[in-house]
Amino acid sequence: MSSVVAVDVGGTTIKGAVVGLDGQVRHRHQAPTPAPHGPDAVVHAVRATVATLVAEADAADVAAVGVVVPGTVDATAGVARYSTNLGWHDAPLRALLAHDTGLLTVLDHDVRAAGVAESTIGRTEAVDDSLLVVIGTGIAGVLTSAGQPVTGATGRAGEIGHLAVWPDGELCPCGQRGCLERYSSAAGISRRYRAASGREASADQIVRWRGTDPAAAEVWDQAVEGLAIAVAACTMMFDPAIVVVSGGLSQAGSSLLDPLRTATAQRIRWRESPPVELSALGAESGLLGSAILAARAAGVDDFTAWKTNRLAP
Ligand SMILES: [Zn+2]
Repeated sequence: MSSVVAVDVGGTTIKGAVVGLDGQVRHRHQAPTPAPHGPDAVVHAVRATVATLVAEADAADVAAVGVVVPGTVDATAGVARYSTNLGWHDAPLRALLAHDTGLLTVLDHDVRAAGVAESTIGRTEAVDDSLLVVIGTGIAGVLTSAGQPVTGATGRAGEIGHLAVWPDGELCPCGQRGCLERYSSAAGISRRYRAASGREASADQIVRWRGTDPAAAEVWDQAVEGLAIAVAACTMMFDPAIVVVSGGLSQAGSSLLDPLRTATAQRIRWRESPPVELSALGAESGLLGSAILAARAAGVDDFTAWKTNRLAP
């Protein structure tokens, strides 16, 4: 057995890959997430994706299956407890997939998996204290303290997207006001730009337009300021050695990083700010984390080769 099947279930896309135990990606398979058709359709699509990948890999070659999903996940029980975007309640995904494939199967949380990838082969590998901020459609975080991911009393630590950065700000679907996610997620940036200008645009268009379009500049500046407030708050509480930004919005590169570093330093006056860096794993960190979790379950404990192989097509 020389590979694992890894799947990252997102709100819009189910991404999958067959990954060698050396970290080399051998096959990829991607499908739209049929969220509008309800949770049963999503569960069916996840099972179909895993089946396709296992068939491509040749089942005899697969050591384990790793699946990561958003929302609330009970990794110990192998149950996807709840997801607002996907609509499921207590979906016993691990048991279903293990039954379908006859393979050792791991189910975990997508952002936690991104944190595992970052701390195994990414930027936080060499440090014991770090903050990972994943900015995509939503915003979530992984705090690592003294070498351990902080999960909290109920498994819900790291919800940096629902830090209230503007106390009297916009109402969030979560019920609070002024949540970071409303201002600084890709979806939030698009929505706020539409409200300010009447025009539809993606977050990456808005970043590019900020030099010539005042509405784009205002929305972007406020997004960066919100992130700086949240990073400063986490710095006060947890003193991370590094803050890593990943997810779709991190593709903005220095357009995000430079103003975020400046704004964070302005919010932290009495001590130095932690370095703020982009993830080297790009938008793949959830999928890579899923592969690493599956490989670990299959007994792999040396991921050195994965650092060079992970970018292979
Ligand atoms: Zn909220």
